[in-house]
Amino acid sequence: MTPPTDAATDRTPLIAGNWKMNLDHVQGPALLSELARTLSEIKHDPSRVEVTVFPAFTALGAIQSLVQSGGLDVNYGGQDLSPFDSGAYTGDISAQFLASLGCTYVLVGHSERRTIHYETDDVLNAKVKAAYRHGLTPVLCVGEGLDIRQAGAHIEHTLTQLRANVAGLTPEQAAGLVVAYEPVWAIGTGEVAGPEEAQEMCAAIRAELSTIFGTTIAVKARLLYGGSVKASNAAAILKEADVDGALVGGASLDATEFAGIAAFEGQTPSGGPV
Ligand code: PEP
Repeated sequence: MTPPTDAATDRTPLIAGNWKMNLDHVQGPALLSELARTLSEIKHDPSRVEVTVFPAFTALGAIQSLVQSGGLDVNYGGQDLSPFDSGAYTGDISAQFLASLGCTYVLVGHSERRTIHYETDDVLNAKVKAAYRHGLTPVLCVGEGLDIRQAGAHIEHTLTQLRANVAGLTPEQAAGLVVAYEPVWAIGTGEVAGPEEAQEMCAAIRAELSTIFGTTIAVKARLLYGGSVKASNAAAILKEADVDGALVGGASLDATEFAGIAAFEGQTPSGGPV
């Protein structure tokens, strides 16, 4: 399988911060204000590197107000969504609600949802489709646990998730897709997959998308790496041909650190080239 990497330069890198169940409707906007200030200090260019945050649902309204009133060049999205559009689904949040709050993205299938909430590949496929029905771009998370990696079955495991989660998408939908490869053993552990491991999996994901949807579609999809990304290790991972960005957990809760990741091309949060 030759990974189709020829259009790599057309993909805008995406640095996405998953705030998880941290920061309420007051704390979230405070962090986003600090992040926007830091990004402006380092002369961050949003047309070169896109920055996105995933706040808690209860903070999304305040985030929307801040982004609109401050004219911030930061996108945002929900951390999950219902596979259904409306109705008797107590506690769930529909894609339509997220779209009406100005969300661009929604996380689908984060390993914490797969594990703690027992979300199956079929449910995640329905969530991906629900996102597209309402104009949201899914950031589909896939990846293996440590036992699977140690058994050498990580690629087949991750591609099996991918195939099931993207089944039935149109080529146009697949072209806009964001897939985050997140090895579960690297999430929140300080263990980071090496650049070669991230590239190996992202190349395999792109090759699989090429098999399913065709190469012209596969070269457009953006593939992220997630798992203990920090300002100090981002550049090495993001220089890999098939890695188009990062999904960041812990480090996204610190404005300077997260801005340092967004500056992976060579600026520092204190300004100027490294
Ligand atoms: C995540 O939760 O998606 C994640 C990558 O977390 P961390 O960066 O803390 O490993």
